[in-house]
Amino acid sequence: MDANAAPTRSLAAPFRAAWTAGRHALSRAARLALDIALPTQCVSCREPVEGEGVCASCWARLSFIERPYCPRLGIPFVYDPGPDMLSMEAIASPPAYQRARAAVRYDDVARTLVHALKYQDRTDLAPAMGRWMARAGGELLAGADMLVPVPLHWRRAWRRRYNQSGALAQIIERQSGVKARAEVLRRVRATEQQIGLSRAQRATNVQGAFQVSPDRQAEIQGRRVVLIDDVLTSGATLDACARVLLRAKAAQVDVLVFARVVESGPRPI
Ligand SMILES: [Zn+2]
Repeated sequence: MDANAAPTRSLAAPFRAAWTAGRHALSRAARLALDIALPTQCVSCREPVEGEGVCASCWARLSFIERPYCPRLGIPFVYDPGPDMLSMEAIASPPAYQRARAAVRYDDVARTLVHALKYQDRTDLAPAMGRWMARAGGELLAGADMLVPVPLHWRRAWRRRYNQSGALAQIIERQSGVKARAEVLRRVRATEQQIGLSRAQRATNVQGAFQVSPDRQAEIQGRRVVLIDDVLTSGATLDACARVLLRAKAAQVDVLVFARVVESGPRPI
């Protein structure tokens, strides 16, 4: 990881000034921002920037999820409750998947990145997003046998030309050496967009939507799978995917996303 590398000439002027003013004063997020090439126009605020990606101030506004967090769901804790303490959510309604990790909170800047990757063909954002995911999910990836991106229905995949979760999985494969297996899971039913639906409606919406490809069942058996997606909101989609993988006798299913909604955080959706 080259997060601590010196800034290059492609950095935006304000960021260069901030660096000169004192690298120790830079937040962890800002330092991590160096891991990515910066675009001519900031994806988030449209301010002109040198290089590609997002401007320095938007990078600084990304909230990277760091410990302490719930070891099960990866939800950040406001204070450290001690090792192995679970969040209320993990105790009240444990998901089918074992553990979830996310690189950042799903706030304004994260949402812009996710939308740009998903709807605006900004595949150039995938490498940085994927690298941050690999870092956030290090613990999960260490014991994993395969990465399985959440599939799109073929009609949607055809319209968008690529699956953003698949693009992220490919980057994480390169980072971790864990093979991405997009063909394992299929979306057999087109579903409504989850946006605007309640938690219960989201669960119903994705019921029966996923299937392990019949000729891939044997490859799942006894394997530890990490599901890859861009955003975790209610977790309904990932839960539905985890259920079919566990039914196909996967040994364990974990979840790694770029961004997750944190209810208590600043402006979740
Ligand atoms: Zn910006």
